[in-house]
Amino acid sequence: MKLISTRDSNKKEVSYGQSVLAGLAPDGGLYYPHDLPKLNAGAIKELSKGTYIQITAKLKYLFAAESFSEKELTEIMSRAYSTDKFPHVSEGGNITPVRQVKNDIYLQNLSLGPTAAFKDMALQPLGQEMSFLLKKDKTHLRILGATSGDTGSAAESALKGLPNITLFMLSPKRGMSEFQRAQMGNLSGGNIINISVDGRFDDCQDLVKELKSDREFADLGAVNSINWSRISSQVAYYFSGYTQVAEKYGDPIDFVVPSGNFGNVLAGYIAKEMGLPIRKLIVATNENRVLHDLIQTGVYSIRPAQITTSPSMDISKASNFERVLYDILGKNPVSVSKYMKTFADKGRVSFKDFDVDNAAMLQRGFGSGVSTQSDRLKSIAWVRDVCGEVIDPHTADAITVAARLPEDGVPKVCMQTALSVKFESTVQQAIGEVPQREDRFKHIEERLGDEGAFISIAANPEELKDIIREYS
Ligand SMILES: *Cc1c(COP(=O)(O)O)cnc(C)c1O
Repeated sequence: MKLISTRDSNKKEVSYGQSVLAGLAPDGGLYYPHDLPKLNAGAIKELSKGTYIQITAKLKYLFAAESFSEKELTEIMSRAYSTDKFPHVSEGGNITPVRQVKNDIYLQNLSLGPTAAFKDMALQPLGQEMSFLLKKDKTHLRILGATSGDTGSAAESALKGLPNITLFMLSPKRGMSEFQRAQMGNLSGGNIINISVDGRFDDCQDLVKELKSDREFADLGAVNSINWSRISSQVAYYFSGYTQVAEKYGDPIDFVVPSGNFGNVLAGYIAKEMGLPIRKLIVATNENRVLHDLIQTGVYSIRPAQITTSPSMDISKASNFERVLYDILGKNPVSVSKYMKTFADKGRVSFKDFDVDNAAMLQRGFGSGVSTQSDRLKSIAWVRDVCGEVIDPHTADAITVAARLPEDGVPKVCMQTALSVKFESTVQQAIGEVPQREDRFKHIEERLGDEGAFISIAANPEELKDIIREYS
């Protein structure tokens, strides 16, 4: 299955492996298959049998057969999701267990990996795939990433110590939790370079784009959420979640996804397009409601991101939306380029300007809702009261939105995208106590110690270039 850039009118094809190492396409577009594989009910049933590792390997093979054999993918996924890294693997090898909260509302736990965030689900396989491909090519790759919180430690944990890779990770000086900073700082050293940018997440993302457009740094790889490897790995937990719920409660089902850069819910969209019986994909946002407005009105309008207590959702634009946009604009790269250029120039663009119904997202099965600080606190307390689970503020945003949906007997599976241990102060505010820490996370802040774990820079591309040159 070949991939093309969403903005390339020549439709130049690349292999799965090439897209993994490149991240972003040279024209600024995102890699996406010509057509997604389609599965009928029998094929979905067959594919969903077995352990999580087997499901991911089989699914991944549909996308990546050109670059890996099915056996190689099984080995890659076995290393990515080993019990070492996912200590809570339950019987039957289920690493994304679903539980009922109350009535129609369920939680699917995507955060049982090494850094307690759902980013592990996609980044652990990405690290293994990259390492495999680079070894084969006998080349070295410099990677530049940007994180608003969870991507940083998850990427570093996935790439730490892998030969042939150096990772430069940008993070905003403000907006991350102590725990997140400590997790990243603890991974500094060797092939992992942590860089703290005086600005916000969007400034970090802009720096990445800026360097990629400079010839000297055009070969930089990416691990941020636009990498096709990440999206295609994430499709698997929708199959797993669906199977767990549908077996007991019937289908179709809804997923409610706490969203930022639109990577997680995009994987759900792909699962749905492949034939998985998903009724609705509901995007939950926090106060940064760019995606909510886009889905409800068809207008994509940039806004300065405000810092909230669900910081991984603090975005002013959502990079991965471009892949759904590609489908909505009739797979026309000229229209996509024009749309994205309008957005970049004017900070605002509407489907209507492209002869597309402003309800296009709703028609494709998306829904949305907004959750604010007081909602988050209430949702954390509510879930604790009704089922005993202490959730994190991002997951709480999904719960808020799910709880407002009509109760109609269709299961609403809320994605649990981080563990509460990472956001103790908000949890304490909500329920008056901090969540219990597993042993592996005890005293992590104290272990950080030295300030030198992060290199500080202004949001200035020249400073960043100097650092990358120095470490290359
Ligand atoms: C990254 C992240 C999100 C947002 O996911 P996207 O794929 O960027 O939409 C939500 N919650 C948590 C905890 C995250 O780390």
